[in-house]
Amino acid sequence: MTIAKPEIDWQAIAVQLAPVRVIDEPVLIKKRSRDFFWYSPILNEKLKKCFGDLVACPETSDELAHCLAVAYANDLPVVLRGGGTGNYGQSVPLQGGLIIETTGMKRILEIGEGFVRVEAGALMADINAALKPHGWEMAMFPSTQDIATIGGFVAGGSAGIGSIANGALREKGNIIQLKALSVEETPHEHVFDAADALHIHHAWGLNGAITEVTLRTVPTRDWIGCMASFDSYCDAYLAGYALATSDRIARKLCSVVDARIAGYFPRLAGHIREGKHLVVTLVPREDLAAFTDLVAAQGGHLDLALTEEDRVAKGIPHVFEFAYNHTTLQVLKADRSATYQQLGVPDPADVDAVIAVEQAIGDDVWHHHEFARVDGRLIVADLPIIWFRGEDRLREIDSIYADHGFTVWDAHTFHIEGGGVKNADYRHLAWKKRMDPKGLLNPGKSRAWEMVRHLSATEIEAKAKD
Ligand SMILES: Cc1cc2nc3c(=O)[nH]c(=O)nc-3n(C[C@H](O)[C@H](O)[C@H](O)COP(=O)(O)OP(=O)(O)OC[C@H]3O[C@@H](n4cnc5c(N)ncnc54)[C@H](O)[C@@H]3O)c2cc1C
Repeated sequence: MTIAKPEIDWQAIAVQLAPVRVIDEPVLIKKRSRDFFWYSPILNEKLKKCFGDLVACPETSDELAHCLAVAYANDLPVVLRGGGTGNYGQSVPLQGGLIIETTGMKRILEIGEGFVRVEAGALMADINAALKPHGWEMAMFPSTQDIATIGGFVAGGSAGIGSIANGALREKGNIIQLKALSVEETPHEHVFDAADALHIHHAWGLNGAITEVTLRTVPTRDWIGCMASFDSYCDAYLAGYALATSDRIARKLCSVVDARIAGYFPRLAGHIREGKHLVVTLVPREDLAAFTDLVAAQGGHLDLALTEEDRVAKGIPHVFEFAYNHTTLQVLKADRSATYQQLGVPDPADVDAVIAVEQAIGDDVWHHHEFARVDGRLIVADLPIIWFRGEDRLREIDSIYADHGFTVWDAHTFHIEGGGVKNADYRHLAWKKRMDPKGLLNPGKSRAWEMVRHLSATEIEAKAKD
């Protein structure tokens, strides 16, 4: 997708941005214009030629405010970027313009009883490392914690490792406070406490530049990374379900992976039984015996049980790098003709329905389920590997899932309303009107914004109540 852009003197913009460091080398700008949209061949076709024009790298919120003021004064499209690990082109500049990379804003500001306050560009692995000596850890984090920022997670993510115990990011108490800057002549920092943080959470950086995040933390435990293997997918799923619903085992990850996908895990060769279906989990040391019993009761075998020290000594990645969207990545590293989809299982307890859809679809779809809790309810997402045979077949697969009662959260769209969010979020858009009156932030990602941008914030908000 290429959109004609007005001529902008980017050298002059770089001068205005001083003293903020900028990146103007075309090859480096191109790198920072990409995220993991290439998981989708459909998005890859649409987004591979979308590049920004200049990258700014602020190190403080004052520097970020300066970048936003320059963008406002010059009508520049702006895309905020953390680690660039989003999957749907969330941080791809559709209309070119200024990319603001936040990774220099990485200070951990405060650690207290059950909370951490950090700058938006802090990497989540660094936050977890800083918390551990104090006896805490993040209530949840994505499997990309090593390269993804907390600002990017709050703006683009939704759940992760820990969600089976502590719910989704959006749930009460998980986000304690967000601070975000507006894009105005003089950007203002707004503070969003508790429920109000949802006005900014998962808005893809459309309605404000997050500067600071305060999150709930939970007491850390001595986690053991485990992989158990099973002869049938049905047995593995049932073991996953039993683990996810167990009162005795305090797991913080519960994933079930098809044996054919596990065949793409070369770094686990010799550590897991070949050709078997997997349950991937993290359990506290004191619950390992109970987990071993659960696996045996389901006819499985505990292949791997690693302390953090063992894992490092053996050079094995974290077990969560074989879960969530890392599972897809392991396959894509070997074969780019794979892609994936995001589906909601209608009734997590109904393993027959899970197996029935598998049989109805055929061999080009390999299953992978993630168990999590949302609003206290167990939910299961299927993130299957799909061997891509064109968009028609992909949509046929979506329809088969839908006919079996599954929800399709399309992973092949770059519009915020097209994927997990589904419908327009008018609260987000009302705040966009307040925080970004010129509509400069992440342009092109919200279809609904184009329909309401002429309205006042109050009128947009009223639509949320319709
Ligand atoms: C292998 C793999 C595994 C993944 N696993 C998970 C998972 O377990 N759970 C999950 O939820 N997601 C997952 N994701 C998606 C993604 O990694 C996470 O959402 C991640 O937290 C995004 O952080 P980031 O710093 O890379 O954000 P980016 O990709 O840089 O940005 C994401 C969005 O946030 C916006 N943004 C970034 N910083 C700011 C800011 N300061 N203010 C306002 N907007 C901002 C961007 O404009 C963009 O729209 C995965 C992706 C991959 C490729």
